[in-house]
Amino acid sequence: MTSIKNNLINIRARIDAAIIRSGRKSGAVRLVAVSKKMPMEKIQEAMDAGQVLFGENFVQEAQAKIEQLGPASWHFIGHLQSNKAALAARLFGMIETVDRIKLAKALDKQLKKIGKKMDVLVQVNIGREKQKSGVMPGDAQLLLEELDGYSNLVVRGLMTMPPFLDDPEKVRPYFKEMKEMADMFEEKGLLGKHGPVELSMGMSGDFEVAIEEGATLVRVGTALFGSRY
Ligand SMILES: *Cc1c(COP(=O)(O)O)cnc(C)c1O
Repeated sequence: MTSIKNNLINIRARIDAAIIRSGRKSGAVRLVAVSKKMPMEKIQEAMDAGQVLFGENFVQEAQAKIEQLGPASWHFIGHLQSNKAALAARLFGMIETVDRIKLAKALDKQLKKIGKKMDVLVQVNIGREKQKSGVMPGDAQLLLEELDGYSNLVVRGLMTMPPFLDDPEKVRPYFKEMKEMADMFEEKGLLGKHGPVELSMGMSGDFEVAIEEGATLVRVGTALFGSRY
């Protein structure tokens, strides 16, 4: 029988196997349960099965869940508009999608008001796709340098949504490129100042490949909760 609990056990086993295959340490990868468009009951079911970290794409939708459900960690993983910065600053433990200075500025200002430091990731548009969010790879360094000036943002690493391709092996080169970029920025001292560098990549269809290439956070929705429609 499939249940969220069984799905979770299965996904955790696949994560662990991929960690072992890639010669990394157990615990090197955290699962972000992507609960967008999922009702409270399903999220509660995942919590009851031991899941503590969740990802949401829409600030208002997340607000109801965060305020009603028990203690958990919440990552924001959607496109964030600057005018939602105040609410996002209050609700989330990490914002994975900082991709422009205007947003960084708005977040930093709101965080200062409430006296909070926020872990953030810089979202990189690794496929250089016109319609997608994320800073272009060639502009990532400049953004990281500028983020240094925002004292309430704690830059922990990079995040990406590579081009959507059915075959995870076709996505592998993008994951590889992200890992190389993260390593390069660490060498330059732009990442890794606040603990190990985080690399958020991999979703339901390709999280194992992402782990093999160095992901530390995988964002899994449908494989855990079932279809969103
Ligand atoms: C929806 C979403 C996911 C999860 O996708 P699944 O294919 O359902 O696992 C991961 N990351 C982001 C940014 C998303 O918007």
